[in-house]
Amino acid sequence: MSADEKNEAAAALPEGDGEFTPTLWSVTGPTETKRPEPGSGGDGNARAPHETKAAADEPAEAVPLSKNARKRLAKQEAWAAKKKARKEEEKALKQQKGDEARAAFAAKMEAMTDAERAEYEAERKANREKRMKEAEEAKAKKTEALRSPYSVVLDLEFGDLMTEKESRSMAKQLTYCYSANTKAAVPLCLYFTGLDGEVGEALLKSSPGYKNWAVRHEEGSYLDALAERKGDLVYLTADSEHELTEFKPNEVYIIGGIVDKNRHKNLTLNKANEQGIRHARLPIRDHLKMTGTHILTVNQALDIVLAQLELKDWDKAMERAVPVRKQAKECTEEDGKKEGDAELSE
Ligand code: SAH
Repeated sequence: MSADEKNEAAAALPEGDGEFTPTLWSVTGPTETKRPEPGSGGDGNARAPHETKAAADEPAEAVPLSKNARKRLAKQEAWAAKKKARKEEEKALKQQKGDEARAAFAAKMEAMTDAERAEYEAERKANREKRMKEAEEAKAKKTEALRSPYSVVLDLEFGDLMTEKESRSMAKQLTYCYSANTKAAVPLCLYFTGLDGEVGEALLKSSPGYKNWAVRHEEGSYLDALAERKGDLVYLTADSEHELTEFKPNEVYIIGGIVDKNRHKNLTLNKANEQGIRHARLPIRDHLKMTGTHILTVNQALDIVLAQLELKDWDKAMERAVPVRKQAKECTEEDGKKEGDAELSE
């Protein structure tokens, strides 16, 4: 093709379609199609017999495919053929393996005496039942948490006060919280409230299966979800003048789902006061030798609740829940990080 011919062919491409995809326009032969000039009076001209239906709907005149387009088309076809061949090969291999395993099993059974066969069958049945029981127990343990007398709300209404990165970090901390709860000796009934914001979005992205987690999912505020229990709500906030002495089954503790390196001072204290709900701080000062702020990450706060419910001893609970680095040391960003992911709140 001469340079002029090439230019002509390029001019025939749809406007703005620099990355011309030959399959869109012509799939059956080494030609491209050319749209008539706007207002040229439609189709009128005879159609090349190899034109596709799509091309036939768009009145067009056939022009040869450029060398590059032909190459691209050939590459695409070769790739598709290779993929198909690989799939067929994999399928055949799977089938063959299955046949072999079935034959081996039949031979093994054949070689057994009646007594051996009966024993073998009984063993297989017992193993199957054991696996099913374990799966059921694991499921029951998860859902049992929802009936726990102890409740904790993770308040996820602060998405607009966080950067995207902080929201992602928050979502990560929620996975730690959920995981810790499923393994806890005394699991909590966890509420995720305010899921209709940025944190909910970040959580969906990082853990698409979170809707199946055994937690109470609430789009809106805990004030709606727990409207009848407003008097039982206690916001946990490091800025409260009240110090908590114990976790009670009839109270619902709220943890502020925010990663803000404490930019937003008194945020949760003010929220609790404005909403007319009680608040309290964890007894960190007496039970943890910490310098700097006494502000924990969301998952550390939750870990303290879980550890205290199990150990009934604040010293031991703090020791287990708060990394040694954070104890008796100036707080650094590294504190509270699990596997280097979640970020500190202060
Ligand atoms: N500026 C935020 C800090 C968020 S820390 C604020 O005003 O709350 C994340 C959450 O962990 C807090 O909202 C709180 O619920 C909980 N938390 C952290 N340290 C705490 C402490 N010492 N006592 C009680 N709750 C604490």
